[in-house]
Amino acid sequence: MSASVAPRLPSIDGLLRHPACVPLAERYGRESLLASLRQLLDELRSSVLNGQLSAVEISPDVLAGRVGERLAQQQRSHVRRVFNLTGTVLHTNLGRALLPDEAIEAVQMAARYPLNLEFDLASGKRGDRDDLIEGLIRELTGAEAVTVVNNNAAAVLLTLNSLGARKEGIISRGELIEIGGAFRIPDIMARAGVRLHEVGTTNRTHAKDYEAAISPRSGLIMRVHASNYSIEGFTARVPTAELAELAHRHGLPLLEDLGSGSLLDLTRWGLPAEPTVRQALLDGADIVTFSGDKLLGGPQAGLIVGRKELIAKIKKNPLKRALRVDKLTLAALEAVLGLYRDPDRLAERLPSLRLLTRSQADIFAQASRLQPAMAEFLSESWQVSAVQALGMIGSGSQPVARLPSAALCCRPQVSKRLRGRCLLNLEAALRGLPIPVLGRIDDDALWLDLRQLDDETAWLAQLPQLQVES
Ligand SMILES: *Cc1c(COP(=O)(O)O)cnc(C)c1O
Repeated sequence: MSASVAPRLPSIDGLLRHPACVPLAERYGRESLLASLRQLLDELRSSVLNGQLSAVEISPDVLAGRVGERLAQQQRSHVRRVFNLTGTVLHTNLGRALLPDEAIEAVQMAARYPLNLEFDLASGKRGDRDDLIEGLIRELTGAEAVTVVNNNAAAVLLTLNSLGARKEGIISRGELIEIGGAFRIPDIMARAGVRLHEVGTTNRTHAKDYEAAISPRSGLIMRVHASNYSIEGFTARVPTAELAELAHRHGLPLLEDLGSGSLLDLTRWGLPAEPTVRQALLDGADIVTFSGDKLLGGPQAGLIVGRKELIAKIKKNPLKRALRVDKLTLAALEAVLGLYRDPDRLAERLPSLRLLTRSQADIFAQASRLQPAMAEFLSESWQVSAVQALGMIGSGSQPVARLPSAALCCRPQVSKRLRGRCLLNLEAALRGLPIPVLGRIDDDALWLDLRQLDDETAWLAQLPQLQVES
């Protein structure tokens, strides 16, 4: 009986000529369309043979629609903008600092045109890429010399290897830290060829501990900013100035890995105090390393500053070539550093500082303004309120300090048993928006910290598309 004959899949050639597929070929290219069609038909073949699909389900129009969706999905960039409403400003997983317009323009210029990356325009001879920003960094930090690499992890690795390979690196046990993403000081030291000589205890290390460790095998003394944890209570730490004096008395260099490395005293903007690069150098550190995209507010980079002869040694290390910074980064870094020449206007012009210094009153007003819209697009089973919240700087700066902020707090009005699932569903729905929205779950609620919500219009425009599974 003919009714029992399974419908047949259309041919590839037929589909390629089908009116619904023609625009797809134009948009995505014939090769991509062909590959997607083949893949889809292969997937459907056995279901068709088993008679599990109706004629409509494998009609050319339906198949063209499915292939169109796949191609659109494939074409969508994997690098996507998101709304960071987590409350952590310099969020490592979300790209840390946002660049100011000046840096974005500089990056565009560097991307679009040839440039004097390693070419000295005055003499017409080959130049060094570090020269492009050396003057500016020296001016802002007081350093004698400078070199720049890909990130601070690279800066630490390169410095240790250049100055301490096959010798001992003396460091306090309280500073043998792990930064996220498997960056552990003992491991980096080992990879740099420096033998770890740990001294003191986790909470207390004294000058005499360093002194006792010094021997002919010593190559350097290292100090690491604790960054993402804090030691409180019964603690002791040798001040940098004293440690530098001790190191120099024994002819050893003192390296200081500042991590965030702020160029200016942040307390002038009401932020928690962070050691500045200038102060570390004034205290006698011979080399200071720090990140470009943490508190500095620039692109990912590792800055190495300090004594001229040590920087010269670091620059001669063949590893430097492997870790060197690219032209887009240099262009952005120069533009960001340029803004530091005018500290009075820095908080307006540098996005990370602008966000970090936004007042709680301002953020709370925004939360109150947006509360009705959020409430409207969530069902009755949610209570949405504008509340005060506490955020963080992030990226290992001031791990215990909190930034007074404000948030939309979305609380499911369901039994305790269902709350967890409800929150995960809302979190997933927000992630599924065209510009994914990332908040944080805490205390049986989903919090959207608005400190970083600059583009209110784009955020509101996509809310009607929010579909929370219940
Ligand atoms: C963040 C940090 C690093 C790593 O810096 P990246 O720029 O992320 O590579 C190294 N040391 C300290 C103390 C840090 O805080």
